Amino acid sequence: MGENRRTVLVTGGTRGIGKGIVERLAAHGLDVAFSGRDRSAGKQVEATLAAEGRAAQFIHADLTVTGSAAGLVAAAAAALGSLDVLVHNAGIYPEHALGDMTLGDWHSVLDTNLTSAFLLAQAAAPELAKSAAGRIVFISSITGPRTGISGLAHYCASKGGIDGLMRALAVELASQGTTVNGVAPGTILTESLAELYAEPGLMESVTRIIPAGRMGSPDDIAAAVEFLASPDAGFITGQSIIVDGGQTIPEVQGSS
Ligand code: NDP
Repeated sequence: MGENRRTVLVTGGTRGIGKGIVERLAAHGLDVAFSGRDRSAGKQVEATLAAEGRAAQFIHADLTVTGSAAGLVAAAAAALGSLDVLVHNAGIYPEHALGDMTLGDWHSVLDTNLTSAFLLAQAAAPELAKSAAGRIVFISSITGPRTGISGLAHYCASKGGIDGLMRALAVELASQGTTVNGVAPGTILTESLAELYAEPGLMESVTRIIPAGRMGSPDDIAAAVEFLASPDAGFITGQSIIVDGGQTIPEVQGSS
C-alpha cells in the first residue's frame, strides 16, 4: 500500500454500478474495499482485478442486519489502514404497486437504501475526520429526487431521503473537512435494471427518450464518483450530480 494512496469503501460492489465504481477506482490507484452479500461474486471481482494487477478487498456484509454497517466500516478501516472515502451504492428497487405493498416491503427498501446510509455515515465519520480530504458519496437516483415511477413509492422515498441526509451531513461534517455529495444516475444498464425493464420493447422505448441516445454504463457513474471522491472536489459539498444523458431535461411539449 503506497504512502499517499487514498482508501475507499464501496458498498454493493459485487455487481452493477458498484462493481464499475470498484473497477474504476482500483484502476486509478485507490486502495479499495467493497462489500456485498454474495461471497462468490465478491471473490470473483477480487480475482478479476488481481489478474489485471489491481487490488480490491471483498468484505461480506448484509446491510439490513443490525450492526453490519458499523462492522463493515471497522473491517474496511482495519483492512485498508485508514478510510478517506465512503461510497454508499448498495440499493434495491423491487416493484410493488401501492395497494400490494406490505410494511415488510417498505422496510426492506428503506432499510437497504436509506437507513444503511445513516448507519454507514455515522460509523465512517470518525475515520473520515482523520483524513486530509474525507469524502462521502451517496448513490441516489433521478427517481424520487426528480421524477417518479409507478410501483416504486418505497424506492422513491428512500432516494429522496438520501438527498436530505446528504445535505444535512454536508453541513454537519464540514467542520471536520469531510464533504458529502451524491451522484444521481438516470437509466444505467445493469442486470437488475434489465430485470425491472423486462417487458418486451421497454428497454428500447426508454432508450428513445434519453437525449444521449443510449443508456448509461456503470463507468459513467464511476467517473462522477471518482471526481467527487478526489481531493480536487474539496469545495463541493451538499450537491447531487445528475448523470442521465439528459433524460430529465426535455420539456414536455403539446402537439397540435
Ligand atoms: P444491482 O442490483 O446490480 O447491484 C446492487 C448492489 O447492492 C449489489 O452489489 C448487491 O450486492 C448490493 N446489495 C443489495 N442489497 C444489499 C444488502 N442488503 N446488503 C448489502 N449489499 C446489498 O443494482 P444497480 O447496480 O443497478 O444499482 C446500484 C445503485 O444505483 C442502487 O443504489 C440503485 O438504486 C442506484 N441506481 C441505479 C440505477 C440504474 O439504472 N441501474 C438508476 C438510479 C439509481 P449483493 O447482491 O452481493 O448483496
